[in-house]
Amino acid sequence: DGFQTSGGWIEVIAGVMFSGKSEELIRRVRRAVIARKRVQVFKSHLDARYAGVYAVSSHDQRTVEAVPIDTSEQLLLRLDPLAHVVAVDEAQFLDDGIVRVATTLAERGRRVILAGTDTDFRGEPFGAMPQLMAVAESVDKLHAICVLCGAPASRNQRLIAGRPAPYDSPTIMVGAADSYEARCRACHQVPQ
Ligand code: ADP
Ligand code: ZN
Repeated sequence: DGFQTSGGWIEVIAGVMFSGKSEELIRRVRRAVIARKRVQVFKSHLDARYAGVYAVSSHDQRTVEAVPIDTSEQLLLRLDPLAHVVAVDEAQFLDDGIVRVATTLAERGRRVILAGTDTDFRGEPFGAMPQLMAVAESVDKLHAICVLCGAPASRNQRLIAGRPAPYDSPTIMVGAADSYEARCRACHQVPQ
C-alpha cells in the first residue's frame, strides 16, 4: 500500500486470470479496515462460487461484503457516500462509464481500487481496463504461472471443448462452454 496521499487517488490491480488480483484486492481491503477506514467493495457479475470471499471482518467485528453490480451506474446508485475506500473487482466487465465514476470518486477524496483482467482471450485490451490504467496513480500488473511451461503467464488461454478458441469467438461467452488457462506469450494460441 505504498501510495498514500491525503487526497483521493485510483489504484489498478491488473493481470491475467489466476494472477492473484482478488487476493491482492482483499489484502488491501483488509488493511484499510484495520486502518479503521470505511470500505465498500463492489464486484461485477458476482458469481455464487465466490460469495463470502469478501467477508472481511475487523477486530471490532465490522464486516465488508461485495455488492454485485452489472453497470457503473449501479455502482453510483449503491454507493455508500461515507466510504473512504471504494474497491471494485472484475472491473473489465463494466462499461466505460467506470472511468468517470472512478475519477469523480478520486476527486471527492476517495481511494479507489480497481482489479481486473486487462487483456481478453486474444491478448487484446479488455473493456475499460486500458483507460483505467491510464488515469490511475498506481498500476500493478500481476502474472500467473503458465500451465504449459512454468514461465510467468501474461495471457488468458481460452479453450472450447479443450481446443484453443478462434480469434473471432466473442469476448465474453455466455453459457460458459469455455474454460481458461494462464499461459505465457509463447504458449498462448489464438487461431484465426
Ligand atoms: P485472479 O483474481 O487474478 O483471477 P485469484 O486471486 O482469484 O486470481 O487467484 C489466485 C490464486 O489462483 C493463486 O494464489 C493460486 O492459488 C491459484 N492458481 C490457480 N492456477 C494458477 C496459475 N496457473 N498460476 C498462478 N496461480 C494459480
Ligand atoms: Zn508458457
